[in-house]
Amino acid sequence: MMPGQICVALPHDPFEAASSLATCVLGDPPYARRGGIVREPDLAYGTVTVALEHLANLASGFFGTAEELLMQRTLVNYCAFQMTPAMREAFRERVRTGVGAIRPSGRAPWMIATYPGNLVCPLCELAAWNEYGTRAMLWPHRAPLVRACWRDGAQLVPTLPGPAPCYPADRVREATAAQRQFALDTVMVCQLGANCEQAALEFEAQIAAAGVRRSSGTYATAQFSHSFREFCMAQVDDPALHRFFCRPRFGRDVLQWVRSAGVAFIPPFLLVLLLGWLRLAARSPATGLLPPPQYPHCGRTLARRVTGWAGRYSRARRPADGRRRYDQSDIERLLQAHCTVAQIAVLCRISESTVSRYVSTHGLKSLAAAARIEQARTDVRRAWTRACHRYPNRSRNAIRKLEPRAYQWLVTHDKAWLRQQCQAFEHRSGWRRGLLPTPGSAATIAAQVRRAHRTIVSGHRKARCTRAALCRALGVTPYLFDRWRSASPLIAAAIRKALE
Ligand SMILES: [Zn+2]
Repeated sequence: MMPGQICVALPHDPFEAASSLATCVLGDPPYARRGGIVREPDLAYGTVTVALEHLANLASGFFGTAEELLMQRTLVNYCAFQMTPAMREAFRERVRTGVGAIRPSGRAPWMIATYPGNLVCPLCELAAWNEYGTRAMLWPHRAPLVRACWRDGAQLVPTLPGPAPCYPADRVREATAAQRQFALDTVMVCQLGANCEQAALEFEAQIAAAGVRRSSGTYATAQFSHSFREFCMAQVDDPALHRFFCRPRFGRDVLQWVRSAGVAFIPPFLLVLLLGWLRLAARSPATGLLPPPQYPHCGRTLARRVTGWAGRYSRARRPADGRRRYDQSDIERLLQAHCTVAQIAVLCRISESTVSRYVSTHGLKSLAAAARIEQARTDVRRAWTRACHRYPNRSRNAIRKLEPRAYQWLVTHDKAWLRQQCQAFEHRSGWRRGLLPTPGSAATIAAQVRRAHRTIVSGHRKARCTRAALCRALGVTPYLFDRWRSASPLIAAAIRKALE
């Protein structure tokens, strides 16, 4: 404050936001530079624009200390739920003193509905004007997804500019009971946010009381997810959020936060919804005690071990220079260079559906299909030949087990090449053909010899590994044994090692 200036602190609505007080005392705040963009300073959904210590000092403690301002006039505690413990402290420090680096949270699409147009309650605005003579912005109205005033149940409306609030009578509409309850719960969650750890413990106890925790200590995650998802879908009508609610791990994440004792983070509006769900669960017996699942391992997936080329999950190379700029006119050229639709979307900075539409309207579908095949071809062929070189004595079926996806792809798209590859294996003829019928036979027999050697050596009788012992273990005559030895160097090496 400049010396000589007199700061007049007047009474204000007890729920007026700190940013609104700051505007009354200091005027509109100067623009701040954030992320390279000049914009209005705002933290905690626009409830903080000036460091709270500065504001408290200016009013000489009339509005309370910085800590009191933080607790009673901002949404800082509400925001605390979406941060890790370290971030929480940094954020509170920044709000109090105005220094310290924090990363401002981005705004999800559904937040745009409440931000940046300032939503106000027309009744509260009129009351503040009549009682205190100022226009007031109240912090409970600033929280995301709040559509009603928690105090008098009126629907929130976009604020009107001007020195005095004059809202037409038809703008004042009564909100639904659910909207009002949501607003009340939001205020409650903000109060709980003063101590996130304690809040998590309380939620845990309530969740257990609602029957989600069984007597064995496990959580009925699937049932809770289903019930809570239904509740959220009915409460919130935003399509963007419906996709969020439909995520497979939605209910599990909520329960994980509850069990983490406040160490994890969670979008605070989910806690607002959870409060509503708990109220419903306490009332209706339908969501009461939940039975244990019928199949205890239901929903658990076994990790499958698939080797070789990853198929559609492989990281595709980009055949075009990603540093250049492309637009829609380049799509055909990129297709000819064997770029896939997803890669073109990234290169041209447009959505995949736009590329697909362009491809179908310009008759480029066959080109796109060819590009998809051509892009994979090099990788698949390389994977197949690499496997062949690595295991030179294995049959095509053995290689197929190592490279299941590549084999499937080659059979579908590149059969002629695959047939040539098979010819690269030496077809045995003469007496060897009877002994070793497939290219993989030698490897199989060598493996059997090694196994027999291990069995003989590791037996408790400490037998010596001789040719006769090997023949007995393998169940073959010495004549066949010697034929094997001379038929393939691979078998010969295995036998030599076994007899050492
Ligand atoms: Zn109101």
